[in-house]
Amino acid sequence: MTTSRPMIEVKALRKSFGTLTVLKDINFNVEAGGVVALLGPSGSGKSTLLRSINLLVVPDGGSIRVGQTTFAFGPSHKTPRSRELAAFRSRTGMVFQNFNLFPHMSVLQNVMEAPVYVRKLPRNEAQDLAMAQLEKVGLADRAYQVPQTLSGGQKQRVAIARALAMEPDVMLFDEATSALDPELVSEVLLTIQQLAADGMTMVIVTHEIPFARDVADRVVFMRDGVVVEEGPARQTIDDPHMEATRSFLSHFH
Ligand code: ADP
Ligand code: MG
Repeated sequence: MTTSRPMIEVKALRKSFGTLTVLKDINFNVEAGGVVALLGPSGSGKSTLLRSINLLVVPDGGSIRVGQTTFAFGPSHKTPRSRELAAFRSRTGMVFQNFNLFPHMSVLQNVMEAPVYVRKLPRNEAQDLAMAQLEKVGLADRAYQVPQTLSGGQKQRVAIARALAMEPDVMLFDEATSALDPELVSEVLLTIQQLAADGMTMVIVTHEIPFARDVADRVVFMRDGVVVEEGPARQTIDDPHMEATRSFLSHFH
């Protein structure tokens, strides 16, 4: 019998910056192949939660499991070593609002960088892998251009290919379309949708509510560092139970 436990398991997660408590006892799971949309007003702690899953932020308490690896945080747990952090991080691909591509490198070099320097793949293998990821996002024909020559939507698709080139277990998107001109949003959403169809496990922070409703299995609403409501995407977006969720969603109508 196969036991299917969640791919991501976040338990009792806490994080403060100085006196400001940003995450208060956060619990949530993402099934393998599942897509969770993380929604909520600005300042509610979405980015901090996403960065915690990637360990770019080190939480104060609670635990995070991705795949086989668990980290527990707090005074009774030892601080993870940088090598352990790096290994864990490479299992989760993260895509940011502002692409963060290396401007002086070609598109192909951008995507090859981590496979060569982090995964230590031979260059020819890394190049094949990078080209395959660029094909997946529809940009193989741009491999030898520099990022500056691409549109914002294309840059973001390169950033997605770059994250995929690490062959991560999960992908995390933090407002991946928020910096884009409106006409460039849909190509990036389409790429994310394809990943979902391919069975990638994802957590997506987005303000594109119809997209979240469509692509996510589940939604998690945050406010002031707590999960106020979560449930199946369509049902919860169409008929939220909590006043805080209703009020948040009303801004999008
Ligand atoms: P969201 O992504 O939902 O807008 P964030 O996780 O970015 O929320 O931020 C939640 C709160 O934590 C905000 O009040 C923000 O100012 C604060 N915050 C985030 N990162 C830091 C940091 N590195 N240092 C201090 N405060 C931070
Ligand atoms: Mg944010």
